Amino acid sequence: MSDILNLCAVLENAGVEHIKGAPLCDFCTFRIGGPAALVALPENEAGLMSAIRAAEANSTKYIVIGNGSNVLFPDNGFSGLVISTRCLRDIEVDGNILRADCGALLFAMTRAAAQAGLSGLEFAYGIPGTCGGAVFMNAGAYGSDISAVLRSVRCYDIDSGVIRELPADELGLFYRHSIFMDNGRLIILSAEFELEPGDAACIEARMSEIMNKRRASQPLEYPSAGSVFKRQPGYYMGKIIEESGLKGYSVGGAAVSLKHAGFIVNTGGASARDVQALVEHIKSVILKNYGFVPECEIRFIGQ
Ligand SMILES: Cc1cc2nc3c(=O)[nH]c(=O)nc-3n(C[C@H](O)[C@H](O)[C@H](O)COP(=O)(O)OP(=O)(O)OC[C@H]3O[C@@H](n4cnc5c(N)ncnc54)[C@H](O)[C@@H]3O)c2cc1C
Repeated sequence: MSDILNLCAVLENAGVEHIKGAPLCDFCTFRIGGPAALVALPENEAGLMSAIRAAEANSTKYIVIGNGSNVLFPDNGFSGLVISTRCLRDIEVDGNILRADCGALLFAMTRAAAQAGLSGLEFAYGIPGTCGGAVFMNAGAYGSDISAVLRSVRCYDIDSGVIRELPADELGLFYRHSIFMDNGRLIILSAEFELEPGDAACIEARMSEIMNKRRASQPLEYPSAGSVFKRQPGYYMGKIIEESGLKGYSVGGAAVSLKHAGFIVNTGGASARDVQALVEHIKSVILKNYGFVPECEIRFIGQ
């Protein structure tokens, strides 16, 4: 606990807002997770880098999160520092380039692009993540993904302590993958997206169409972390989970959605253990029925 007190003092000096013992269920869309020893809420890049450097210097484990829409936190919380980027959310449009801070929400980015008459980000409308989380995951939907529009990323290289600007073609972007997943030593600060001029009304119409499809097909009325499993070549996970008779199957408060079997929803009071047990059950049924173990898209955060 003394390392957390040290960290609090360093964050205090650096002017970085922080909260002791904040419940992580308030920092994720699953609404699951016990308290974090400490949550930092930097308001600018300098604060974000200070928080990382402080945790490194203190040998405190830490994680950087965006909107927490693709993570499952443990029931007994996180014993280190959780750095939330939710206060770093500036968005600028210059010509056909949209630049966003890591914590800018995709909702706001897609709206800003539409208002500027720029097309390319419509697919992301309704994905409840941030710019940083979306680049990290190479988020995608409705036939496109971040790699299709990303121009470059400014990131903090923890090992060298230097800010680097990396072009999109050096980021190892493929289906739900980026180099940021590989070693966790590069933290996304902001990103630039290259969009195409388009008709604002057509862009808005496409966004509404996408949102209506989401509302019709996804269980947005329940807390979740989106699709639990990655697509496998030749298989749609929702379809084969449904064909395996698992729609509605539940463990505690966690259930396979009746609306979209690719989602696990928190029907009320679900624990991380419930979700994990349900994930293991689905994996074993899919292995038995289809001969492979599905890979999770959701990221399980260790205690
Ligand atoms: C209802 C619903 C629908 C969804 N639909 C889709 C969809 O259509 N397509 C899709 O791809 N996903 C979808 N998702 C999943 C999720 O929204 C995306 O993966 C999103 O991009 C995650 O962004 P986030 O900010 O919430 O990331 P988080 O969940 O906060 O973090 C995800 C990972 O990124 C890392 N990370 C976050 N920010 C940074 C940073 N600045 N630097 C380095 N690492 C960072 C975290 O450490 C973590 O490992 C959906 C989720 C929900 C709940």
